[in-house]
Amino acid sequence: MDTNARLRQLPKVDVLLERPELAALAEDVGRTVVLEAVREALDAARAAILATPDCPESASPDVAAGPTADEIAVDAAARVRTRARTSLRRVINATGIIVHTNIGRSPLAYVAADAAADIARGYSTLEFDVESGARGSRHAHVEGLICKLTGAEAAMAVNNNAAAVLLAIAALARGKEAIVSRGELVEIGGSFRVPDVMRESGATMVEVGTTNKTHLRDYENVPLKDDIAAYLDYENAITENTGLLLKVHTSNYRVVGFTEGVPAAELVALGARNSVPVMEDQGSGVLLDLARWNLPHEPTVGEAVAAGLDVVTFSGDKLLGGPQAGILAGRYHVIAALKKHPLARAVRLDKMTLAALEATLRLYLDPERAAREVPTLRMLSAPRSEIAERAERLVGLIEAAAPGRFSPVAAEDVSRAGGGALPMADIPTSVVSLVPTGCSVDDLERALRLGEPHIIARISEGRLLLDPRTILPDEDDEVVSALARIASEWR
Ligand SMILES: *Cc1c(COP(=O)(O)O)cnc(C)c1O
Repeated sequence: MDTNARLRQLPKVDVLLERPELAALAEDVGRTVVLEAVREALDAARAAILATPDCPESASPDVAAGPTADEIAVDAAARVRTRARTSLRRVINATGIIVHTNIGRSPLAYVAADAAADIARGYSTLEFDVESGARGSRHAHVEGLICKLTGAEAAMAVNNNAAAVLLAIAALARGKEAIVSRGELVEIGGSFRVPDVMRESGATMVEVGTTNKTHLRDYENVPLKDDIAAYLDYENAITENTGLLLKVHTSNYRVVGFTEGVPAAELVALGARNSVPVMEDQGSGVLLDLARWNLPHEPTVGEAVAAGLDVVTFSGDKLLGGPQAGILAGRYHVIAALKKHPLARAVRLDKMTLAALEATLRLYLDPERAAREVPTLRMLSAPRSEIAERAERLVGLIEAAAPGRFSPVAAEDVSRAGGGALPMADIPTSVVSLVPTGCSVDDLERALRLGEPHIIARISEGRLLLDPRTILPDEDDEVVSALARIASEWR
């Protein structure tokens, strides 16, 4: 058949659109999207025919004629599905890294996700006081809770902790000097670096101390007899230009060995002597002492507030386990000034986030409930025995769903807190360890990653590891089905 005859045989757009499978898709996603996909599929079919102009008479009739109407419809439907797929999609985290920044940090508690969805759909008391019928404050929804949970006099929440730090430094030290220890010039990843944030805040950074040791006398040289500083020509770092003493929690690394830093309480006393405010960027935002679950003690927000800091900043979606937010807790007059600062408007929270944050904080009013219902806390605190049981169960289900295909076994391993928190903590866990037959472990990792939902796993020493600690309990079955599907596709 000559090329023109083959082209003429292609189905018409209208005919394709009337096919039941494409008509059904049009109901779902709209006729325009399907029409575009059908045109693309027809263009592809035309291109395929033109690519083989001298199709020999001896070729099988199918090949000689070109793509069939069925094939073009299947192609069009696939194009519609790709186009209709959202960009932001759910992922199953089987990595064992709990606060995993690339895949969304903290999953929300059910009540928090519900609260966000509920408030999103309608109008709300966002900035409305129902008692007086007058304008209210969006800070009111979380301020009391944060104060109760941390002991602070006042609090507010903004878009993320980076914004909280920017706002606090700008409000307290713009045009002045802010003193920070050389041991705390942290990079958090991405573009958050303490020196850069200070510059953007309009403060001049004054570094004191060394990488491993910073002493109180590095800030203020009070020559005492027998004090080495009396013999060295130290200059006072604190001057009349000092606007702020900044402490940064080195949340994502530790300097170990011959080290020393100035505790918050001593900085607070120093600040008071010199009438300079003192703030701490605490990073992860721990509200409960993690030592109760045999994890390393991480300074809590309450401890920082009790040390007398003027303001403490931390993330809402790291160890706190809520939505992306930055929380500022501290002295009444400092927080009042921050609320009025022009930057506060630029970094303010959306109503959905506020709803989720309020619901998350409410769970903390009962620590046992928080440990049960806040996924990040539940994952951190789950004992190894509980994870081991889930791993064994998964091993059985995987072997039953795809016999002989993955050789699943439960094995001891470690989970990580992630999110730049608890960098030294190995959290003992049990993983499901797989060695596929019929494909490489890299192929399996890729197939899981590209599937729907996407499953992100880890490869170690030629085995694929799935850590149930970070797989939400109701996702176990999806992991098993995904492996069964992959096994059937590779048969
Ligand atoms: C994570 C972190 C930040 C940045 O917080 P985001 O909520 O990601 O903006 C700032 N400082 C410290 C010490 C951190 O650990």
